[in-house]
Amino acid sequence: MKLIDLTWTIDSKMPTHPLDIPLSLQPTVTVEKDGVSNHNISCSMHIGTHIDAPGHFILHGKSIIDFPLSAFIGNAVVINATNKSSIGVSLLENIIIEKNDIVLFYTGFDKNFYTPNYFTGHPVITPECARYLIDKQVKMVGIDFPSVDQAPYAIHTLLLGNDILIIENLTNLDQLVTQKNITLYAIPLKIDAHGAPARVFAMI
Ligand SMILES: [Zn+2]
Repeated sequence: MKLIDLTWTIDSKMPTHPLDIPLSLQPTVTVEKDGVSNHNISCSMHIGTHIDAPGHFILHGKSIIDFPLSAFIGNAVVINATNKSSIGVSLLENIIIEKNDIVLFYTGFDKNFYTPNYFTGHPVITPECARYLIDKQVKMVGIDFPSVDQAPYAIHTLLLGNDILIIENLTNLDQLVTQKNITLYAIPLKIDAHGAPARVFAMI
């Protein structure tokens, strides 16, 4: 058994989406001065590796806490989408996807995480591909880039409108792409919000 961490580290270097307030992670007290250490964090719920819940785009859509723990764990299928700017349904031909699988798209775009174009020049999923995943009744869709689409966010609306959770800003998917029998854990904070940072890892 091997565990592979697919999560970016939350620290003061963490890049944030241009539309979000930048992350602030500050010590409030220190052992040296105060005898105890603590930190204060201020950030968007969509920071780093995180999960989008339906309410992110769907009026009266579900929050993170409306899903049972079992919604965040499952069998994962990793699709090799390296060097693709548009992720189409042809990539899913000959791939066995079962109901409740978690489908992860490995593009390698995570190598740009700390560069200025990470939030603008990323790949997108096509509507046909999203509809195919909806037909397959997958549980979650995960990507190693910041968003499944660009404005006006049709793919977010399609997936979240069908209660399919989205995991954004994954990393290290290169370590999974040749693996079989992957169990994915994408565990968000237990928070009443329409998205939450998550610790995401694979067990192989
Ligand atoms: Zn998000």
